[in-house]
This record gives sequence, C-alpha cells and structure tokens, in this order.
Amino acid sequence: MTSMDAILQAQLHQRREDHLYRTRLNVASGCASTLTVEGHSLINFCSNDYLGLAGHADISQALKQAADQFGTGSGASHLVSGHSVVHQELEEQLAEFTGRPRALLFSTGYMANIGAINALVGRRDLVLQDQLNHASLLDGGRLSQADFKRYKHVDMASLEQRLEQSSAERKLIVTDGVFSMDGNLAPLDEISALAAQHNAWLMVDDAHGVGVLGQQGAGLVEQLNMNVEQVPVLVGTLGKSFGTFGAFVAGSEALIETLIQYSRSYIYTTALPPAIAAATLASLKIVRQESWRRDKLVQLVARFRRGAKQIGLQLAESHTPIQPVLINSDEKVMQVGQQLRGAGFLVGAIRPPTVPVGTGRLRITFSADHSEEQVDQLIAALDSLNLAAAI
Ligand SMILES: *Cc1c(COP(=O)(O)O)cnc(C)c1O
Repeated sequence: MTSMDAILQAQLHQRREDHLYRTRLNVASGCASTLTVEGHSLINFCSNDYLGLAGHADISQALKQAADQFGTGSGASHLVSGHSVVHQELEEQLAEFTGRPRALLFSTGYMANIGAINALVGRRDLVLQDQLNHASLLDGGRLSQADFKRYKHVDMASLEQRLEQSSAERKLIVTDGVFSMDGNLAPLDEISALAAQHNAWLMVDDAHGVGVLGQQGAGLVEQLNMNVEQVPVLVGTLGKSFGTFGAFVAGSEALIETLIQYSRSYIYTTALPPAIAAATLASLKIVRQESWRRDKLVQLVARFRRGAKQIGLQLAESHTPIQPVLINSDEKVMQVGQQLRGAGFLVGAIRPPTVPVGTGRLRITFSADHSEEQVDQLIAALDSLNLAAAI
C-alpha cells in the first residue's frame, strides 16, 4: 500500500467506526414512487421529485425530440457557443414564471449558489447565513473571502445582532426558502424587513419550494407575494420538482448581467444540453398548469402527519413534503433506515455532517406520484418498528 492509501484507509476506518460511512444504491429503474434495487421493489420516500415529473412521458418526449434536433451536448460554455435558442427561451419563461425581469440558467444548484454569492460579495463585505443553510450556500460563503457569519436558525434577533455589528460595504443575507432537511419555512417577510432596515441584500435559495408552494408553483416568494425588491436574488433548482436538471437565478437586469460577467461557475463550465432545457420547458408548463399535483401533496402530507401522530411519532413543524422524524443516535438512524428497507421502504437516513451532530433523522419525502395506500403502508411499517418507544 502507498503511504497515501494507508492514511486514507485509516481515515475511512474511523468514519465507519463513527457510523458515518456512506454508500450508494444501484437503482435499476427510473425515479418513480417505486424503485428497483438489487431485484427488490421498494417504495420510494426519499426523492425530491415532489411533483412526480421525473418520469413524465411528455417531458421525456420533449427531451427526445430536442435531442434529435440539437444533439446531446451543448459543446461549449454559454459565453462561447453553448447558449442555444432553447436556453434563451427557458430563461425568458423562468423570468416570467418567477415574476422577475430576468433569469439565468446554471448547470446545477450547487454552481448557481457558489456563483451568485461570489459575484456579489468579496473582501470587505459581509455574508450572513442561516445556520441550517444548504451546504452549497455555506461553501459559497466560505469561498467568497467576505466576512462569513452564521445566525441561529430562523432567529431574527440573532440575524439583527450580526447586521448591527457590521460596517461592511456590502451585506448579503442568504437563506434557504424551505429548509432542505427540516422542511420548515424561512420567515422571509421578517428577513426582508431587516434587510431593508440595514441596507443589506437578500438571496433566497428555494430549491424545495419551487414547484411545491404558490398557486403556480413559483415557490415561497409566490406564496408570500414577495417581489424582486423584497427578494432581489432568487435561486431555484430544476432537478427536484421539475424532474429534469439544472438551476436558475432570477432577478433584475443588473443582477443577471453581473452574474454573466462575474460568476466563475457560470463562465467556466459547459452549458446544459439544449435537450435538457427543452425538457424543462415541457416540465414548466406542467408545473404551472397542473396545480392538482400540489393539492395532492398537501393531502398526502396531512395524511402522513395524522397517521404518524396516532402511532406516537414526534413530528417536526413542517407542512411541506419534507417530513423529518428525529432519531437521537446516528447509529440508530442507520438501523431504522435498514429495517425500513427490509420492509420494502426507502427513506432518507440523514446523519452529520449533513445535519448537526445529535440530530440524525429519517427524512421522509412525498411525491404527487404516491398513493394514499402507500402512505398508510409506510405508517404501518413505522408503527411495527415501535419507534416511539425507541426515540
Ligand atoms: C439540492 C439543493 C441544491 C443543489 O441543487 P443541485 O441542482 O442538486 O446542485 C441547492 N440548494 C438546496 C437548498 C438544495 O436542496
């Protein structure tokens, strides 16, 4: 063994000891409410395909047709020759959808977050982030060389205190809209009021709200009716509710032009395949029109919460399709996850560093593709594990 491998093996060994070792499933079917894994059919309660669009026939038809016309790859970055008329059309429709003057496509949400934060702030500036923000936001903050501080989760006094302490030139407040591991909502109206009061800018990553919240599915900003002055930087992702791939930032003309000039994760990467953009155009139409998918989700979530309360589970304050069930030990989380898998259910078993130490949890997510029977089956399986006694 080389000395590098010896050091890495020791580190990997420690990770196993700490019950933090991660492995992957080999899934033999497409993303749907049931998945085939190693010859077993499992009911899928861990995807972010909230509207059940990842396997929608109209969307894959749009992908195929566009692939026939535009091929598989864009061949270059947006600023060279990778920006097609399909990308342009999608950006215009996403701007209209979010009620913002413009939108800009990124290849992933991770890159959108890194790119937006770094185009907006640098040395001498301040970035304030909710403690439970998504890793891509936290990484973006660290990379920026700005003074980077976290405030207590959805705690406005903590945010205000940090704003008051700063004399930075630019102050950027960054928050998830729907928190990805807890399912609760950021108090955007209060955050936006504090931002206005302290002359700070506000960036909201609504990866889990877009598609799910709001009459047309434009997310938490639509639900709260917040305009571009109140939330000047809005991020949405396309790999979750939209069932395709990619992400966007929506905002003013000046914001989008600034991102095109200065976002390194926009400039130095290959544009999404145009066929993916075409598929997303088909998806956007369904997201906007088929509000029954959002209504069904609300019903499934309410049914789960009723059932879970009846069997004595402690639920979090979440009414979104993200329903965490806290389990106190990281080891126990993994055990319960395995037991559920044995019973035919796939749920997220989430440990640190994805969530704070001591807050390991099952992350159960719902999709408009689930049936009420599937939800009832999950409750029965959770009941048979006698979790309430174990927690
Ligand atoms: C999933 C997620 C991202 C990353 O988006 P990708 O397109 O998967 O890279 C960013 N922010 C939040 C809150 C997310 O949940």
